[in-house]
Amino acid sequence: MSTVAEHQAAVAALLAPLADREPEAWRVSRPPAGAAPRVLARDILNPIDLPPFDNSQMDGYAVRAAEVVPGATLKVGRRIAAGHGVDLLRDGEAAPIMTGAPIPDGADAVIPIEDATPNAFQPEHVTSRVTFAGTVDAGTFVRRRGSDLAAGSLLLATGTALGAAQWGVLASSGVATVPLLSQLRVLVLSTGDELTLSGRALAPGHIYDANGASMAAAVSATGALVTEVLVVHDDARLLRDVFEDRDRGVDLVLTTGGVSKGAYEVVRDVFESSGVAFGSVAMQPGGPQGLGTARLGRFSAPVVAFPGNPVSALVSFEMFLRPVLRELHGLTPHRENWLAPLAEALDSPPAKHQVRRGVITASGEIELVGGASSHLLHSYAASTVLVHVPVGVSHLDAGDTAEVWRIDD
Ligand code: AMP
Ligand code: MG
Repeated sequence: MSTVAEHQAAVAALLAPLADREPEAWRVSRPPAGAAPRVLARDILNPIDLPPFDNSQMDGYAVRAAEVVPGATLKVGRRIAAGHGVDLLRDGEAAPIMTGAPIPDGADAVIPIEDATPNAFQPEHVTSRVTFAGTVDAGTFVRRRGSDLAAGSLLLATGTALGAAQWGVLASSGVATVPLLSQLRVLVLSTGDELTLSGRALAPGHIYDANGASMAAAVSATGALVTEVLVVHDDARLLRDVFEDRDRGVDLVLTTGGVSKGAYEVVRDVFESSGVAFGSVAMQPGGPQGLGTARLGRFSAPVVAFPGNPVSALVSFEMFLRPVLRELHGLTPHRENWLAPLAEALDSPPAKHQVRRGVITASGEIELVGGASSHLLHSYAASTVLVHVPVGVSHLDAGDTAEVWRIDD
């Protein structure tokens, strides 16, 4: 039996070669939609000054600050709208200027329309004069060229997770395409004769496939791409057929079910003879685990095999696959975690690392949700933390602390 740490290391080692992959060029004008942010594969230098020219921060008047003295009246000049060319401000003039419009040559400050008399723009054909309440310092309400970031500076660094603001600044600098860490392609496969796809009638003795959905969602949240979600019956021929006629397009196979010591362990039966090792990890739930590179016909890819109980599959994912896949996609591998006191006592098999589900009360205590059984998927879905009870611990009292991982973000 291996320890949790040994199996974590084995999964990381199996998938380590997947770090070596070509970046994917992505058009900035259509940022990707996905459950996880995409990550830059290279530094991006800023090609232009941001902003690209001096412009007005206000709707108001572009002036020469030195001409705005108490009691001065200036002639209203030509209007300057956003998107129009740079004009020249003549001596003794104040030019109506709109937010984002280029500061005309000669002007060095903008006075907001609210501080002008009259304090509304007149129709353009009306030649008029304008006065201002006080004086103004040069530079006031002028957004300087390059004041956000100068051309040639580092715009975004390798490894940056691209959210709304990052996509926005790439676009504002006119960057057309960016190299992103490419997404690993994951085939998700549920096994079991009892499994029915949602939308179909449930035959006697059947249950709906939960793991296809939960594993697909979990994989997507790591930044990886789910290429297919399949359900295969407990039939070795059918499972072999899934792989023998494909040879590309899959970086990782994630299976659930069929890895224990029962009579119909199809994953084990098919993959054990083709390069995948099956064994037991000292963890509850999620003891039986399979891991290795499968070779079936022309097909060859790493396989990570989880037990079928829905809670076992999710806990296995959290413990073994999520950190590795997140890291391979440039995202923080670990869940937010902390120590919290238990609101109630619990028991745990001392030879195993137990993972329970719970919520954090208003006072910061851990309240367990549901029992230890690995079929309690609804309890898992109602939980906000995983609760860890390490090997060697058989009992914890109320008030004892346990490590929790936040799972509701
Ligand atoms: P197995 O690991 O195949 O022995 O399955 C263990 C338990 O998990 C059994 O009660 C199965 O019915 C259940 N199970 C296996 N796969 C799934 C699945 N995809 N969705 C829901 N329950 C499953
Ligand atoms: Mg089964």
